[in-house]
Amino acid sequence: MSLNCQDAARMLSEKRDRRLSLRARISLRLHMFACRMCKVYGSQLDTVGRVCREAGLRAEEKCPGEMTDGRKQRINDAMTREPR
Ligand SMILES: [Zn+2]
Repeated sequence: MSLNCQDAARMLSEKRDRRLSLRARISLRLHMFACRMCKVYGSQLDTVGRVCREAGLRAEEKCPGEMTDGRKQRINDAMTREPR
């Protein structure tokens, strides 16, 4: 079984959510070995995933749900101070 790039891309993103079957992983690995494009794509996905995770954690710490009154006030101040 050989993959095309579309299959490989789909599997790369599935791999983030759930564990692929052994067969799928082998096919993917073979394709990645042969295809430079998908190898680059795969490492970009890893980077994006990591950055999102890190940013997500920080965002949760700093923005718990709704906008706080303090933040609204700061935005309001910034807008009224804006030179015309
Ligand atoms: Zn490919």
